[in-house]
Amino acid sequence: MEPKEIIQTIRTIHEMEEGFIPLHEPRFWGKEKAYLNATIDSTFVSSVGQYVDQVEEMLAKMTQTRKCAAVVNGTSALQVALRVAGVNVGEEVLTQALTFVATANAIAYNGAHPVFLDVDIDTMGLSATALETWLIANAEKRETGAFNKQTNRRIAACLPMHTFGFMCRMDKIMEVCDAWNIPVVEDAAEALGSQYRGQCAGSWGMMGAFSFNGNKIITSGGGGAVVSSDPQWAERVKYLTTTAKKPHTYEYIHEEMGYNFRMPNLNAALLVAQLEQLDTFITSKKNLFEAYRTKLDSVVDIPEGTEWNHWLISLELENKEERDAVLAATNEEGVMTRPIWQLMYRLPMYGHCQRDDQKNAEFLEERIINIPSSARR
Ligand SMILES: *Cc1c(COP(=O)(O)O)cnc(C)c1O
Repeated sequence: MEPKEIIQTIRTIHEMEEGFIPLHEPRFWGKEKAYLNATIDSTFVSSVGQYVDQVEEMLAKMTQTRKCAAVVNGTSALQVALRVAGVNVGEEVLTQALTFVATANAIAYNGAHPVFLDVDIDTMGLSATALETWLIANAEKRETGAFNKQTNRRIAACLPMHTFGFMCRMDKIMEVCDAWNIPVVEDAAEALGSQYRGQCAGSWGMMGAFSFNGNKIITSGGGGAVVSSDPQWAERVKYLTTTAKKPHTYEYIHEEMGYNFRMPNLNAALLVAQLEQLDTFITSKKNLFEAYRTKLDSVVDIPEGTEWNHWLISLELENKEERDAVLAATNEEGVMTRPIWQLMYRLPMYGHCQRDDQKNAEFLEERIINIPSSARR
């Protein structure tokens, strides 16, 4: 299909013959303003308040987990979840190179080293096969866990990321990581509302991290959360992200170095209104996806096993030349599209990290673009 035809198809589906069509806009169709006004009237705009508690209750319920800690953004959610999972300075975390930079940054903030493994071609998420193959070739089990035989570093965690809301094959990933005694933290920043084989994103691993940045399926302006099925992990995240203060009526007692990573109540108020609309957004985006799928043959289909939140819809183009041509033409014409991310080892700060062959990641890097995916009335 010519870039011109792609542009025309997108414009027809959006019923916008002219004007700018953004990639993903937030929608405030619910009680956002009422809850924000109530928060201001209450004076509880900052670090404590009923909306923070409500967000944590709603998210634990929606993800079928037991406990949730709301934090200031998705990156800090990942950073602290990894620390709580036992990631220490100088250790390694297995993840994918095809991801947003925050995944790798969260590992590095803990003083740990990412190891980049390949993704599945259909899920675009960490491949269980690549993971197992790499471990067999490079790792050995010792008393204190799995170790990288080349670097002699402990492999402290595995961090799969659910690209665009598609789910990694979590049953297989859990099986491999359990066999090697490696804790799993899910980067579910893009996957709120998605499931794999009937089990929610974020509930498979020891912990799951979400983002509520402005471009995600729902937003709190900025925000994030960690959920866990064993309440102690999210409780520990909550403790560390609220300055690690021991409960006391008036004394300041801090026995560890914590963080001020709380979600303000003002942002939580916005998020409660957004959480109430998650199902509406998913239904709307599903209809948009169906419209695209009937008109554009390069639309990437839902991988087997995923119950999809339909966050960002993508096209798989023939090759890099077609990708470049479509990106240039659409953005020139006011139809916003974006390429998938550059692989992490192309970035100067992660160029030295260990990795496998990256066959699928490099194939996708040259071909995948995202097209306008906002919810519509
Ligand atoms: C958005 C995102 C994050 C980071 O979330 P912020 O809230 O922007 O800090 C982390 N990982 C992935 C995969 C993301 O898409």
